[in-house]
This record gives sequence, structure tokens and C-alpha cells, in this order.
Amino acid sequence: MIRRLRNRENPPPSLSSPEANAERIDNRKLADAAKAAGNSIHDAVKAMKFNAYSALDVHNWLWAQFGQKCAYCEASASNTDVHVDHHRPKGDLDAADNPNNDHPGYWWLGSDWENLLPACGHCNRSPQYDPASGRRYKSGKSDRFPLLEGSARCMFEGEDVEEQPALLDPSIDEPSFFFAVRIHRTLPLIGVRRGRDDAERIRAKESIKIYGLNRPGLVRDRALHVSSLLLTLDQLAENLDDLNAAADANAKEKYEKRSQATWKKLYERYLGSHELPFLMTSIRIVEKWFEQRGMRLGDHLPHDYDLVPLHLDDQPNEAVVNAAPAAAAQHPERILPASVVNFRALDQVRSHFVRWQQEHEPRAAVIKEAIKEVLNAIDIAIRVDPADQAGWYEAVAVLRGELDSVRRRTQRFVRFPNFVDEQKGYLVARDVI
Ligand SMILES: [Zn+2]
Repeated sequence: MIRRLRNRENPPPSLSSPEANAERIDNRKLADAAKAAGNSIHDAVKAMKFNAYSALDVHNWLWAQFGQKCAYCEASASNTDVHVDHHRPKGDLDAADNPNNDHPGYWWLGSDWENLLPACGHCNRSPQYDPASGRRYKSGKSDRFPLLEGSARCMFEGEDVEEQPALLDPSIDEPSFFFAVRIHRTLPLIGVRRGRDDAERIRAKESIKIYGLNRPGLVRDRALHVSSLLLTLDQLAENLDDLNAAADANAKEKYEKRSQATWKKLYERYLGSHELPFLMTSIRIVEKWFEQRGMRLGDHLPHDYDLVPLHLDDQPNEAVVNAAPAAAAQHPERILPASVVNFRALDQVRSHFVRWQQEHEPRAAVIKEAIKEVLNAIDIAIRVDPADQAGWYEAVAVLRGELDSVRRRTQRFVRFPNFVDEQKGYLVARDVI
């Protein structure tokens, strides 16, 4: 799973056609009539029609946005049946997530492109069957949409509830922040990344379980992919060893060329485009390979590489974190130096605003513009090299200015989260509402 921020500019025409709008109006009338008569909305939802989302242009648009891969497992569309998944189920919610059977499903999001994701049959349906082992297994999203414990659930259209989903949405969340790739007896399995807090661990685990990210067939395909990636990495290691051992300038030049050619091949086949299979797995494995050799993958990628943020290291830099309180006290901005804590917070702030943009669709153009500026400022800050402290302070100062601007423009009608912990001095997004 990798993050893809969908292009908001050109949603598929079938979702805004007169027929689609008529479908929405009819569905709303059915819900209103049931409410007015004191009847169950469940029955009204059964009578609703949801045709707009299954138009061909919707399929094509969604699969193109996600590089012709399933949004959940990155399986290639050419090798699976293709579905359009309602991330929030449009009809019945699974009993596991609806124990009182009082939720009629998110029917009002039935043809809302922000609720649609391209999914393969394995991720979308449940239960599954694995021919190789002859077993049934339970993964598959189907009508699941669990929330974190204690989160309120939005029951009807327009209700102002901020849900805390337990499943990751690759168009909002950054999966590489949550997942690690661990090779267990040659099988590359998706696990929970170290250093995550309780809620983050639950979200990672639920997503692995429900999307079936370690289901047998998928792991077998992933293992084939990883074994050829590891061969290329072996070749690169050999080239680099030869280069280090080169006795003269001619030999050095020869092995330098070989290393560059191998790296180019590796980049083009495994890292260079969001359309490549199992991209998150490749990035995590290559990132680790570089770390084990005392190098940073980010130093070898093109400057504008943005398929995943590569600053989200597993281990915060101890020296930076220990020096942080003193640095925060000295610095007028009271913002800590660049560290994993801050990059993580930035990612949370970004998720908050992306969600705000998508779920609350600000009406005023001026607020929309202010949110866009915040997201731009975050994108700049998150790409700052952690060693470039001056660059970091500058980027964060710009970001704080943009946050203030959104706060000023929205304070009359929304509570604005406090993104800066004034005590500790660093950016936080823990108390987002
Ligand atoms: Zn899938």
C-alpha cells in the first residue's frame, strides 16, 4: 500500500452527471421519507439505487490514479478482477462494526469519489479461498469499517462527527509510516513499524488483517518480486565492493560505471514510478539495505522524488532528541530541531488537513486557499534534510504562519487544533479534534 493523493481537479464526469445527481436526490428522498414516517432507514437503503459509481469512467479514473494497482495490496490490475470499493460501506455495515445493527451504512457516500478506492477482488471480498493450501481465510474488506475504540460513528448525512477509522486509507494516511516489511523464512511479510503508539499499532494491525496484506497468494507474489529485487541489490553490493577494492583509476572508472548502471536498473524497475508493483515493499527493503551500509537512500534519489517521505526513520536521532529541550528554550520559535518526532508530527498535521479538506469540504474559497498553503508549507518542511537545521527552522516558521492564517480565518466556526506543544516546544498533532 502506498499513499496516493487523488487528483481533485478532474473527478470522473459520471459522478456529476444529471443521472448521478438524480440518483442522489432519489436516495435522499427515500431516507427522508423513512425518517418522517418513523421507519427504519435500513429498509430505505435497500430500495436505494447506486449505479453512478460503477460507470466505466469511474473505474478508469480510479485505477489510473493508483497506477493500475489495488489501493490496498498493490496487486496489478492486469492480474486480478477489478472492483470499486466504497471505503465507508454504502449499505449494510458488517455486524462486527455495527453490533446494535443501528447503522444503515454510509448511503450518502455511495457516489462520492472521495469514498471510492480501486480494490482487487481479494481485498474487497470476504471470505477468501487459497487453492495452494486448500484453506479458507477470513480477510477481505467487504462491509467492514471499524473505528478506534471510543470514536463516535457518523450515523447520518451531514452529522458533524470526526470519526477515527481503524483502517488506513491510502488516499489520506501514509502507509509506510505504519508498516514494516519483515522477511520471515524467505517470505516478505507486512508487520507493524517499530515506535508506533497504541492507536497507530491498532490501525496497522486491523489494516493488515482486514485487507489481508499477508494472505498466502499475495505473499507468494511479493516473495517473487522481493527475490529479484534482492538479486539486484546483491549485484549492486558486488559492484560497490569491486569499486572499493579498485587498484587504479581505470578500474575505478569501470566499476563506478557498473555500479551506476546497476543502480539505474534498480531504480527503474523497483522505485522510480508509482505504477511499479509492491512499491512500498521495495522502498522499505532498499531503504534498510542502504542504512545497513551507513548510507541514506534519500541521498541517491532524484530531488523531487515524492513517492513516500523518506524522513520517517525508525530510530530518532538520540543526540538531537536529547538536545531538544535546550534548543527549544533558546529558539524564539520554540520549535525543536528537525527530528523524527517533528517529521512524524508534520505527517499527522498533514493528514489532519487532508482529511479536513476531504471530509468537510470548506465552502469559502479563502479557507480553501489557506489550507492549500498549509499543505504546501508542510510538503516543503517534510523534505528538508534533517541535517539542515537552518532550513528546518525557516520551513517551520513559514508553516506556523500559514497555520495562524487558517486559524484566523476559521476560528469563528470551528475549533482549531493546537499543533504546537508550548511546554515541550515541538509540533504536535495529538490533540486534533
Ligand atoms: Zn488488493
